[in-house]
Amino acid sequence: DMSNAIMAQDEMGRPFVIVRDQGNKKREHGIEAKKSHVLAARSVASIIKTSLGPRGLDKILISPDGEITITNDGATILSQMELNNEIAKLLVQLSRAQDDEIGDGTTGVVVLASALLDQALELIDKGIHPIKIANGFDEAAKLCVAHLESTTDDVGNDETLFTQHLFKAARTSLGSKIVSKNHDKFAQMAVDAVTAVMDKDRKDVDFDLIKLQGRVGGSLLDSTLINGVILDKDFSHPQMPKMVLPKEGAKDVKLAILTCPFEPPKPKTKHKLDISTVEEYNRLQSYEQDKFKEMIDDVKKSGADVVICQWGFDDEANHLLLQNELPAVRWVGGQELEQIAISTNGRIVPRFGDLSADKLGSCSKIYEMEFGTTKDRMLVIEQDTGSKTVTCFIRGSNKMIVDEAQRALHDSLCVVRNLVRDSRVVYGGGAAEITMSLALSEEADKQSGLGQYAFNAFAAALDTIPMTLAENSGLDPIETLTNLKSKQINEKISTAGVDCLGKGTIDMKELFVVDPYIGKKQQILLATQLCRMILKIDNVIISGKDEY
Ligand code: ADP
Repeated sequence: DMSNAIMAQDEMGRPFVIVRDQGNKKREHGIEAKKSHVLAARSVASIIKTSLGPRGLDKILISPDGEITITNDGATILSQMELNNEIAKLLVQLSRAQDDEIGDGTTGVVVLASALLDQALELIDKGIHPIKIANGFDEAAKLCVAHLESTTDDVGNDETLFTQHLFKAARTSLGSKIVSKNHDKFAQMAVDAVTAVMDKDRKDVDFDLIKLQGRVGGSLLDSTLINGVILDKDFSHPQMPKMVLPKEGAKDVKLAILTCPFEPPKPKTKHKLDISTVEEYNRLQSYEQDKFKEMIDDVKKSGADVVICQWGFDDEANHLLLQNELPAVRWVGGQELEQIAISTNGRIVPRFGDLSADKLGSCSKIYEMEFGTTKDRMLVIEQDTGSKTVTCFIRGSNKMIVDEAQRALHDSLCVVRNLVRDSRVVYGGGAAEITMSLALSEEADKQSGLGQYAFNAFAAALDTIPMTLAENSGLDPIETLTNLKSKQINEKISTAGVDCLGKGTIDMKELFVVDPYIGKKQQILLATQLCRMILKIDNVIISGKDEY
């Protein structure tokens, strides 16, 4: 099989594929090789094509060890398919690249890349050299992006409207996902999360400040945004209060965040500790008690209301904390401690002696959240205003739903973040692709020879997007495309796209089906780049059996 095939580059930097085991292999050259690449790409694309758009189908993936994933996300589908074809793997990398940089549009980019390869193959059959095709496609992509940029709408001009636009864009991105029934709620969560933590001046969003946390149980509708941190923990003693509010007269609840263990230091003695009498034992006992008290005094003196500890402590320490009305949480992980420190603007304190008022964190309340009838509890550290971190807490009836809801939310968080970075949008439902396609066709008419071929081919590849959306929505692809093109040309409605959900209008502006400009641009550039790369692979040695 091809699993022992590797990608390599020759001395000219041209990529090719090597299969290590040379027994019973035949070589494929030039056109034959390219055809088989295109076929491999096509077979991958055909699997995920049916997931594109709001009427796209979900896929159920079952891993070799039986774990089930339900998803509509192109990058996820591809990453879980066991592909042993090098070209197919390149498509996986492509959708991952789109995912890393943009976070959305991972299905679309693969559909586009595969359409470009299909078109390239036809040009190869016409006798055009692959490198020339790649160059022509590059030109076409440049033209597309420039044209796309000239048709963008900036939704960031009006600050009050901007939040509404963010909400609508987030909702569009959720349209095809499992959460689509609750898309208002999830879209609002995405907008609130991003606006809570975004850096307005730098126009950026640090995703480290947004935590996605899922928990099986309840329904998707029970999901909430928490202004702060949520821990899979409870207070260390059942008699500690379930809710800690600021002390009388105080504004905030104060937290000591400790990485030192809550245990007395070992008595400093050179000799082995030898306890032979009751008296000695009692002395040691009271030494330990005194040390505990000192530690608790240190904490109390600093003004802390609650102690968050990285380490555990024994029953005795726990009891003393309870007696001294100092609610505590033990065994809190390092990452969570950091989150708490950021969220509460506190410092992580490594030694009791270092503790002081200015190092404490502040929050509005800390409480145990219970779930219905189960004994499950989680601890919430919440800010009423101005939280530096937020947690999207996702509920759902089973793990598959919770996981897919998290992926969907991640996508819409990305869409919102992208609009914060660059508030220009283009219209979805294939409208932007049709606009670009028409611009390319017009340009093609002015060209002769090769340019004409490449531009027309690129335009035809762009048409695949609206056609696929139409097909997935049960519409006739060709009729839909023809109709939309005529709307765009004759009626000058450049926002005309596929009415996937049967809303009764093809005006995507009216439906507010928008995609961030930077996401669409990235799709075009990445798909073109991948196509060039595959067109340059000239030589492949494949196994005797037919792989494709
Ligand atoms: P991707 O993983 O590429 O984001 P999606 O399955 O999310 O794929 O589909 C995105 C495509 O669906 C985009 O072209 C987008 O414009 C289009 N789309 C989303 N919602 C609608 C809608 N309500 N009507 C028409 N097209 C839509």
